[in-house]
Amino acid sequence: MRGVLLLGERQVALRDFPEPAPGPHDVVIQMKASGLCGSDLRPYRGPRRDPERAFISGHEPCGVVAEIGSAVTAWKPGDRVMMHHYYGCGQCKYCRVGYSQLCLVSHKTYGSNAHGGNADYLLAPASTLVRLPEELTYEEGAAVACGTGTAYMALKRLDVSGRDTLAIYGQGPVGLSATMLAAAMGARVIAIDIAPERLALAREHGAAETINAGETDPVKAIRDLTHGEGADAALDATGNPEARVNAVQCARTFGRVCFVGEGNTTTFDVSPQIIHKQLTIYGSWTFSTVGMEECARFIVDRRVPLQHLITHRFPLERAAEAFALFDGGKTGKCVFTFE
Ligand SMILES: [Zn+2]
Ligand SMILES: [Zn+2]
Repeated sequence: MRGVLLLGERQVALRDFPEPAPGPHDVVIQMKASGLCGSDLRPYRGPRRDPERAFISGHEPCGVVAEIGSAVTAWKPGDRVMMHHYYGCGQCKYCRVGYSQLCLVSHKTYGSNAHGGNADYLLAPASTLVRLPEELTYEEGAAVACGTGTAYMALKRLDVSGRDTLAIYGQGPVGLSATMLAAAMGARVIAIDIAPERLALAREHGAAETINAGETDPVKAIRDLTHGEGADAALDATGNPEARVNAVQCARTFGRVCFVGEGNTTTFDVSPQIIHKQLTIYGSWTFSTVGMEECARFIVDRRVPLQHLITHRFPLERAAEAFALFDGGKTGKCVFTFE
């Protein structure tokens, strides 16, 4: 089978791998869609890596069960599934509530230190599977498997409601998902990005207001849109230090701020920016297996227009082109699809 490796320095390779066979508690997933995520850009842009030691990329896997291990009873060939892309000890308190990425012993991350979904087949422990609702496409399932699920859980952490004006920094796959989901939760969304293409998508699919932070000071613009007070809540999906400071600065007194964009170091002037504003600040890292299922159900029940999140589709052979395009920061979600 074919698998995509990210070799660093923006090099991508399509290699041949043996087809996996399931152990007793595993399934083999025939991949139908596999998403590109912002966090893939770190190994993509990072230092050169030895291809012999690299694992197949892709941590947004979605497909059908092709084969099951001898001890697997909950799944059968043909089941439509998403994969929660972490695997822990299965016994500690965090594994037992579905947060295996918080495992107290150790965990694997598929697509990083275990083979991921940018391949024809994926070997997955049966306990990592989450059922894909009939109403969702495989592409939508791939989105839920990381970026959209991450957005959903961050909004839950912020306890977003119809009373909120919510500023969302970054309108890539996570930020645009948050815009769609928060609009479905009733919030008035102010979407911020520097790419006009991404702001146009946000405006079409849920944002009440958009701000180009490359042209306008977003903090001032948000105060102007909120009678001088600031946003009730703000979400940073960029990981950019300046955007993080702006997210804190644009929140009103007693406001809430959540960070999901990864990497970088950021400096805050803590007294004026945080303490004297009585802010509540959250970090949110992806989601549990249960949260992923809940996110998929919310999208179906609230008719969230998630199909519009996906703007580009590629076969695996065009992986280099897919990553180069996504790296440009102007697209919605890019996915690999399999015929
Ligand atoms: Zn554990
Ligand atoms: Zn991700």
